[in-house]
This record gives sequence, structure tokens and C-alpha cells, in this order.
Amino acid sequence: MGRVYVAGSINMDVVATADRHPKVGETVAGQQVLYFPGGKGANQAVAASRLGARTTLIGRLGKDSFGAELKAFLGGQGIDLGYLQETAQAHTGTAIITVAAADNTIVVIPGSNALVSADDVSVVPLVKGDVAVSQFEIPLPTIAAFFRRARAAEATTLLNPAPAQKFGRELLELVDILVLNETELGFLAGTELSDSDEAVRIIDVARQLQAHADQTICVTLGKRGVLALAGQEEFPVPGRVVKAVDTTGAGDCFVGALAAQLADEVPLRTALAFANAAASISVQRMGAGPSMPTAAEVAAVL
Ligand code: ADP
Repeated sequence: MGRVYVAGSINMDVVATADRHPKVGETVAGQQVLYFPGGKGANQAVAASRLGARTTLIGRLGKDSFGAELKAFLGGQGIDLGYLQETAQAHTGTAIITVAAADNTIVVIPGSNALVSADDVSVVPLVKGDVAVSQFEIPLPTIAAFFRRARAAEATTLLNPAPAQKFGRELLELVDILVLNETELGFLAGTELSDSDEAVRIIDVARQLQAHADQTICVTLGKRGVLALAGQEEFPVPGRVVKAVDTTGAGDCFVGALAAQLADEVPLRTALAFANAAASISVQRMGAGPSMPTAAEVAAVL
């Protein structure tokens, strides 16, 4: 059984709730302030670890109280933190979220996440059978260095190019499995896609993006499930009918679950169904990290 190595972001999400958003220059009294561990890298590592994969998170925290809290939380999730660094050069990544009248505004300060370097990932002992996972909340050259190292070790590379930004062909070539939603796929392919587009069109656009013959592209479609293109083969996975209360972190749950399955050498079709089920459980609970299911919970609905 391989290991899941996630190189990615770790944030403290600070959520303020109020009746309404303040206007520019105005102060309003809020109701509550809540602190949630977040960041795509951390969320995906939590999902993989809860689902039973041996998981290592490579990233950076600041030497501050949020850093200490996040470290304690991640350690408590059974994640190996041996390659996590603390830096005095920046504060821990922080998202300031204001929720009022069901709308939110978010300011993200990458802080220490922007300092995750090629050197940080160069020491990771990847071997054949491992899965190397990353997303776009750490510098792109770091991700490329991580994936080159994974390739050299014959480990599988899994990229979740979110939040979406354009990136070079050289990085895309290093990716075995690309996981993205239909909006991100449309953005990268230079066309508009929505969740009401037909499967044939989505697969067509995925095919245009495919960088090499063995590349797998998994397009997550919210409640519609997932469409995957693996080489020339198509794998549609229908969405599960559930009562969604909070879809924050659904994509991260899907990525972590898929990585955990692939590290366990589960065939792609079965791994996709498992990840789809895991993500459908996560949307029935509040929050990102705390909503990630265990393997037993997923097995119970499959
Ligand atoms: P993102 O959050 O990145 O936009 P999606 O919304 O596509 O990702 O969700 C990722 C996965 O979570 C979906 O492919 C599906 O497996 C699951 N999911 C999301 N929303 C729902 C829902 N309302 N009902 C059932 N499953 C869902």
C-alpha cells in the first residue's frame, strides 16, 4: 500500500457572522467569530487520512498562534507532519470570511503558503505506488518540482488546479490525474462550461485539454457526480441523491478520497465511485475539514 503525499496550503479560516455586510468605511456589530482549519492542501490531507491512507502533508506554517493550533489539529488527524516547516518570515495563511444574509466575502492572505519551495519538496521520500497530490495555493514551480520528483520515483501525480489559473504545458505534462470542476475545465480550455452542459460536450472539452495519452481527467459536477476520461475510456459516475447542507470542501474531499484509493491500488472505476460517495457524505455536514468522512461511513453507503 502506497502513501499519499500532499504538498499544499494550510489556512486558518476566520469566519465572522453578522446581519449584514458593512459598507466601505462602516463598522457593524457581528454575532459570532468561528475558527476553522482550512486550505485546500490541509483539507485534502485530512480527507485522505480519515479514509485510512498513510498521509504526509508538506507545507509551511508561520511561528504564530494559528500555526500552533493548525499543527495540533492536523497531528490529531493522524497526518504525518515530518515535512511541515515553521517559518518566521511570514504569518500562517489566513482567510477572513464574513457571512451575512447567506452571502459571503472572503479575503485570503497566503502568508507562509507562498513560501513552500522546491527545496521543501525535494527531500520527500516518494517511492513507486505513492500518490503525490497538489493544488494551486502554493507556488507553481514548487508543484512542478514535486511532480518531477514523483515521476522519477514512478509515483502517481494528481493535480487539482484550483483556484483556477492558467498554467504551462510543461506542468500539465507531469500530471497523471487531473481533478477539476466544470468551471475550471472551461477556464483552462478557453471555453464556457456550466453544470447543465451535456456529458458529451464536457468529455469533448476534457479531451482537448488532455496532455498525453495516459492522462486521466476527472470532472466533478456537483450533484451530477463525476465524468472521467482515462486515456480514451470514459467513466461516468452518477451523483448520489442527498440533502446537501454545505458544499464547502466537497471537491477537496473528492481529491483526498481518490488519492487514498489510488495509493491502495484500487482500480480507477471503483476509486471514482468511492470518492463520489465520500464527497456526497461531506456535503451533508457543515465545514470543510470536520465534514470529511471515515472509510466505514463510506462503506456503509456503497
Ligand atoms: P467543487 O467544490 O470543487 O466545485 P463539486 O461541487 O463538483 O466540486 O463537488 C465535488 C464532488 O462532491 C462531486 O463530484 C460529488 O461527488 C460531490 N457533491 C457535491 N455536491 C453534491 C450534492 N449536492 N449532492 C451529492 N454529491 C455532491
